[in-house]
Amino acid sequence: MNNYTQKVIEETKNKNPNEKEFLQAVEEVLKSITPAVKQHTNFEKSALLERLVEPERIIMFRVPWVDDNGKTQVNKGYRVQFNGALGPYKGGLRFHPSVNLSIIKFLGFEQIFKNALTGLPIGGGKGGSDFDPKGKSDAEIMRFCQSFMSELQRHIGHDLDVPAGDIGVGGREIGYLFGQYRKIKNQYEAGVLTGKGLDYWGSLARKEATGYGLVYYMREMLGANGHTFKDKVVTISGSGNVAIYACEKAQQYGAKVVAMSDSNGCIYDEEGINLDIIKDLKEVKRARIKEYLSFKPSAKYFENEEGKEPKVWSIKTDIALPCATQNDINMTSAKKLFENGCMAIGEGANMPTTNEAIEYLIKNGVLLAPAKAANAGGVATSALEMSQNSMRLRWTFDEVNAKLNDIMVNIFKACKDAADKYNLGINYPAGANIAAFELVSSAMESQGII
Ligand code: NDP
Repeated sequence: MNNYTQKVIEETKNKNPNEKEFLQAVEEVLKSITPAVKQHTNFEKSALLERLVEPERIIMFRVPWVDDNGKTQVNKGYRVQFNGALGPYKGGLRFHPSVNLSIIKFLGFEQIFKNALTGLPIGGGKGGSDFDPKGKSDAEIMRFCQSFMSELQRHIGHDLDVPAGDIGVGGREIGYLFGQYRKIKNQYEAGVLTGKGLDYWGSLARKEATGYGLVYYMREMLGANGHTFKDKVVTISGSGNVAIYACEKAQQYGAKVVAMSDSNGCIYDEEGINLDIIKDLKEVKRARIKEYLSFKPSAKYFENEEGKEPKVWSIKTDIALPCATQNDINMTSAKKLFENGCMAIGEGANMPTTNEAIEYLIKNGVLLAPAKAANAGGVATSALEMSQNSMRLRWTFDEVNAKLNDIMVNIFKACKDAADKYNLGINYPAGANIAAFELVSSAMESQGII
């Protein structure tokens, strides 16, 4: 690390002492882009890194709503408009009780680089609420979404800021959010949200895009190192949107997916996961993953233990796809995966691997597909949804999927080229950070001190 990068990391820690996830993301990026920063002495004078780690705008608001018992509940709402140098702010909304400012800032910060890597005109943002959708009735979800959007609508727009889904925000929530936006604005601004239903101008293949995109990126990374998915054993954390479609594409490529999880525990199916059962449980019934055993009694279920590593990473595998949440793979899980013969990890979730674990895995030759590159297929397809909405046209599934595939091929190439340029070997996480940083920093420098 050089003095300037180190100084900015220290300053960011002092200014945001309680934001551990945000500081983790900043440290990971700034440390790895040092070789590129060194080449630009003007960055220090223009405080480029200081500007990069400070959001352009943070919006925090109250979200009151009435539950089914007539009691008023109050949640916190957030939108962080982090960096608009490359286009309208773009990034999902997360509804989960763990949401706080640090988590939204880390996600927004990561989103800047991810969006740059797509090669599409989108800046970085993120939002959400500490609302817990689990166990809520459909009417409660609708009332919450309407209240959330009643405030958020002042701050977004199809050329300004375009939210999408994330944990806890799927097609149902986007529908309620869009409906409320349309009612308040009294105009049909289709491109203000992405991840919309197909019946009101969502994009074909958006639902599949993050999971499929992850597997396309992995295919490229494996291919560059002489491997394929064929006959590989795969374990996946999570069983939500990203996990389900990563599983589907990996299975199509001939891999055997043997484990998936939710926050309670994981299932292990030696014969290979039956994805139809998972889709029915998670997309239709909104049930817990252990219910899989009611349909397939030969499978096993391992319950997570409070404060302990997720059970899914104890299962022997060739390829691990963390598709649940941040800091899912810590040092203990990383060691277990490596010792059990895992040769590649694809980050479907955002920041699922701790910084310490990333270093350990790369040092030990494990191929690591970094989230901001490997899961960028979701936001890239959201940008394709915006394009279709602007043109008032719809592309076919195959057209969108082919564009997604090309984007993921190009993203892997950009990561590899940057890694090669700076002699970083298989350090694709650093390659991704550098490739994205070069695009964002150049646009920021061109636009002056703002
Ligand atoms: P979903 O809400 O559809 O699914 C999330 C899955 O992760 C569920 O199985 C959930 O289990 C599990 N999970 C969530 N929080 C925790 C936790 N604290 N501990 C253990 N398991 C947890 O979300 P997505 O699939 O959309 O998102 C998954 C990840 O991918 C997130 O990190 C998200 O930021 C990232 N991502 C998503 C994109 C998208 O297009 N959807 C795009 C790019 C990144 P349970 O039901 O028990 O909570």
